[in-house]
Amino acid sequence: TKFETLGLDKPLLDAISDLGFETPSEVQEKAIPILLEQETDLVALAQTGTGKTAAFGFPMIQKIQSDSRTTQGLILSPTRELCLQITNELKLYSKYVKGLNTVAIYGGASISDQARQIKRGAQIVVATPGRMKDMIGRGMVDISKIDYCVLDEADEMLNMGFFEDIKDILSNTPKEKFTWLFSATMPREVSTIAKKFMHKPQEITI
Ligand code: AMP
Repeated sequence: TKFETLGLDKPLLDAISDLGFETPSEVQEKAIPILLEQETDLVALAQTGTGKTAAFGFPMIQKIQSDSRTTQGLILSPTRELCLQITNELKLYSKYVKGLNTVAIYGGASISDQARQIKRGAQIVVATPGRMKDMIGRGMVDISKIDYCVLDEADEMLNMGFFEDIKDILSNTPKEKFTWLFSATMPREVSTIAKKFMHKPQEITI
């Protein structure tokens, strides 16, 4: 399979070519057509290092309206390192999409700096749950109009005790949105989240 057959537009294909990605990884091959063509929730069982950032990132970048400054996509991830890594990847992937801004939100760094970046307009926000909840509480970020929500490394986030924060964050998002959950394992806590917050998710396993 080639990236050209997955339904991706030229700005993404050009970025993919610049990055030197030759063929889609398994999770990309399975997830990208589903997320591009169908408006659906998704549960994907995939380990780190399988290319899952692009599996949710490419469809999100393609579907988001870059001419609007509204925050349309939220990605929750367990750690600051992952949050920064995802943000860097998304910036590389969206280099030819004019006006698309991705901002990272995480603890242990200046909240006012992050609030300023959000205020300039961020269509995609990549966040750790604790800082995200804090910034929602302070009115520094508005996720009431998001269309897409990714729960990345859901098992890790739950292991780290973020269940209540995630619940709280999701209660600030619209009911009509699509949730894409990625997890390396599927313990009961993850199925509970999927049952509670997702609607008839499609499932893929790598
Ligand atoms: P991830 O699992 O998303 O953290 O990706 C792991 C690494 O693989 C990252 O450095 C990506 O830039 C890279 N990568 C993702 N997809 C591909 C691909 N289709 N071909 C080659 N490298 C890739």
